Amino acid sequence: MDLDSVECVSSYDGLEEETSHLHLPFSKSHGGAAIDAAAQAQGISPATSIHELLECPVCTNSMYPPIHQCPNGHTLCLTCKTRVQNRCPTCRQELGDIRCLALEKVAESLELPCKFSSLGCPGIFLYYSKLKHESLCNFRPYNCPYAGSDCSVMGDIPFLVDHLRDDHKVDMHTGCTFNHRYVKSNPREVENATWMLTVFHCFGQYFCLHFEAFQLGMAPVYMAFLRFMGDESEARNYSYSLEVGGNGRKLIWEGTPRSIRDSHRKVRDSHDGLIIQRNMALFFSGGDRKELKLRVTGRIWKEQQNSESGMCIPNLNT
Ligand SMILES: [Zn+2]
Ligand SMILES: [Zn+2]
Ligand SMILES: [Zn+2]
Ligand SMILES: [Zn+2]
Repeated sequence: MDLDSVECVSSYDGLEEETSHLHLPFSKSHGGAAIDAAAQAQGISPATSIHELLECPVCTNSMYPPIHQCPNGHTLCLTCKTRVQNRCPTCRQELGDIRCLALEKVAESLELPCKFSSLGCPGIFLYYSKLKHESLCNFRPYNCPYAGSDCSVMGDIPFLVDHLRDDHKVDMHTGCTFNHRYVKSNPREVENATWMLTVFHCFGQYFCLHFEAFQLGMAPVYMAFLRFMGDESEARNYSYSLEVGGNGRKLIWEGTPRSIRDSHRKVRDSHDGLIIQRNMALFFSGGDRKELKLRVTGRIWKEQQNSESGMCIPNLNT
């Protein structure tokens, strides 16, 4: 691999944001209920009144920029604005497109808990930092790692493991070695949709072993790679190897599992795994080249803890 093809990505820690602003309970949807109740128990406080000021009078959710108002000054949130067909729900006046900049400034100046606070995130942020943080928050749920469909299920790792087993009927294995046979009776039909997933449970963690056929340029290839069910910072603590061969030849891949935060397609398209050319795959299969019979073996191991803050992800495609 040459140096031009290596993309270095530093990890971003969004938790170190501004800390010197108003600190008010604000979120209604996640984790705010208990704080709200506490504030109410103490009677009306300035916090409560600002909170009420920023409550959309139509849907009662908290309003964030852009906040709209009618010519008479009735405010409403963006979601409601798109629903009310240009009539103010309060006074029936035509709405137009008037922003309430003063209220937006108030909303922006508040410190708000991360919307994943109920999942354990302790972060408190100004509005725009909060949006930025939430897109990277370590407590945000993971997408389902199953590659074969556009599954929209999200959740934490234990939830997704159950989901893979129960809903996608994925094979579950305990242990850190694999010895898998992939057989396909008609290897001429290589579509992008040919894939397999097996989940491995070892070191108290879960790993997804993907095997699939796809078109690389004009040539169909087979690819196997491992993804870690957890965040990238933890994935770095593990390594894995894959071997495939036959007829006295062998291909070996050694790598670091990618986090399932990186989509299956992203990992595949960066070629971060064992890639077997069609001709070689048929050669490994032996016989009359009519059937694909690949035996992929490998193992996962834990690396010594390292303290590097950055990391490198090969991206051979660009
Ligand atoms: Zn609303
Ligand atoms: Zn109005
Ligand atoms: Zn968070
Ligand atoms: Zn799913």
